[in-house]
Amino acid sequence: MKILVTGGAGFIGSAVIRYIVNSTADSVVNIDKLTYAGNLDNLADVESNDRYEFVRADICDRTAIADIFSQYKPDAVMHLAAESHVDRSIDGPDDFIHTNIVGTYTLLEEARKYWLQLPAERKEIFRFHHVSTDEVFGDLDGVTDLFREDTPYAPSSPYSASKASSDHLVRAWGRTYGLPVIVTNCSNNYGPYHFPEKLIPLMILNALEGKPLPVYGKGDQIRDWLFVEDHAAALYKVVTEGEVGETYNIGGHNEKKNIEVVRAICQLLEELVPAKPQGVSSYEELISFVRDRPGHDIRYAIDASKIQRKLGWSPAETFESGLRKTVEWYLSNRLWSQRVLDGSYKGERLGLI
Ligand code: NAD
Repeated sequence: MKILVTGGAGFIGSAVIRYIVNSTADSVVNIDKLTYAGNLDNLADVESNDRYEFVRADICDRTAIADIFSQYKPDAVMHLAAESHVDRSIDGPDDFIHTNIVGTYTLLEEARKYWLQLPAERKEIFRFHHVSTDEVFGDLDGVTDLFREDTPYAPSSPYSASKASSDHLVRAWGRTYGLPVIVTNCSNNYGPYHFPEKLIPLMILNALEGKPLPVYGKGDQIRDWLFVEDHAAALYKVVTEGEVGETYNIGGHNEKKNIEVVRAICQLLEELVPAKPQGVSSYEELISFVRDRPGHDIRYAIDASKIQRKLGWSPAETFESGLRKTVEWYLSNRLWSQRVLDGSYKGERLGLI
């Protein structure tokens, strides 16, 4: 298969591309605008593989997207391109509305035009896989409830509302035009190549520098964590074996309070980097509680039994094993983080600096 992956220079998209190139015989075309979150360093392992190609394009640019479909003639689209950071969506929702809603609409329209003119055999196998989040469901009241595929949508932030809108558009294009769509909604991911504005990498990198570890409110918010490579494997299973028109929830059954996650990182660092920055006697003393994010959801937790039952997928990592791998990755890839933090990741590979 030739798979067109949007947002492939981001955190999850790059894991998907590494998975496809390293673990399957398929080829990938990566369509990415390279916003601040797009980092071609994430793809250094696969960039010279002849089953991988990169095209810098904005999913809102209709002409560019039409040209890409007609030039590359993909068998499937895995749509991950999005603005993805909740805090940024609160500070400035414009890009979220534009990319997540208008961009998804543009991609759907161009995919539909392309799909309509395919010969019957190729039309039959074509898939449009939309990658979404569990944040579309809002938050859970109880301690035992889980998000199921039929849980009503109740998004809380501009980010989750824009993702919810894009999910609705994708399902409407399936229902109205017959486009063979599949939607996945996944819980919080973590792992290598995670942009340092997100909780886990931020805590690791701040702790290593002896900087405060900012935790919203009391750190009581519960998230269901999934190792990014488990998510990538699940997404590939869905695009190749999932049923058209279906939705699959993807999660790791790893519910943790944010404060537990931060403490677990501190404990791993105590073991792996006992020599602390000057003036720091324990990593945990760096924890600093800050004013909570407005509209902050309390608890997310996924019921991933459908994908387990129907497609035989389950995560390979526990939270403990995945977190250890993640911390070890950040410790042995300091240059990656340094290039993100000093901004040099933005230009070098494109010949801009
Ligand atoms: P990310 O922010 O790391 O990457 C997004 C990528 O999309 C970047 O490479 C960026 O350059 C690209 N992009 C942004 N706007 C674009 C545009 N207009 N045109 C083309 N490319 C554009 O995000 P991520 O964490 O890898 O998330 C990927 C997808 O998975 C998103 O759709 C997100 O909603 C979803 N998701 C994320 C999580 C999570 O925990 N990170 C969980 C569930 C679902």
